[in-house]
Amino acid sequence: MLEKRIQIPAESVLFEVSKDGVAILDTTTGMKEIDGNTTALCDLCSVAIGPMKDIEHIESPEAISRAVKHGYRPEEMLRKSAEMLDSMGETDEAFISDIMGKSLKSWIEMVDKSETSWALCEDCYKEVHKFILNGGS
Ligand SMILES: [Zn+2]
Repeated sequence: MLEKRIQIPAESVLFEVSKDGVAILDTTTGMKEIDGNTTALCDLCSVAIGPMKDIEHIESPEAISRAVKHGYRPEEMLRKSAEMLDSMGETDEAFISDIMGKSLKSWIEMVDKSETSWALCEDCYKEVHKFILNGGS
C-alpha cells in the first residue's frame, strides 16, 4: 500500500476570546507527520485550501509580519470577534472598539512570535502580498 506522508512544522495556538480581548493560552511547536491528502486550512481566514501536498501559497512568518507592519489587518479574525461580541449582546460601541483593539494587538503579538510558515488561500495571498510589496510607511 502506497501512502504519501509529509513532515510539516506544526504550531498550534490555543487562544481564548473574552471581554479583555484575545488571550493566548498556549503555543506548541513541533514536527507533525501528516497525510499529504489532509485538507489544509488557510491560516488567515480558515477556508479549506485543498490537500496539504498541493498548497500553492506558503509564506514565511517574516513575510506575514512585514505585511502587518505595512498595515495588513486580519479582517476575518476581526469580523469573528465582532460577531462574538454581538452574540453576547454587547452594544456599547466604545467598549466594542476597545475590545477589537485588544484583539488586534494580541493577534499581532502572535504573528510576531510565530516561527512556522503560514499556508494561505488565494484571496489572503493576494491581500497579504499587496502589503508586502507595498513597502510604504
Ligand atoms: Zn484565506
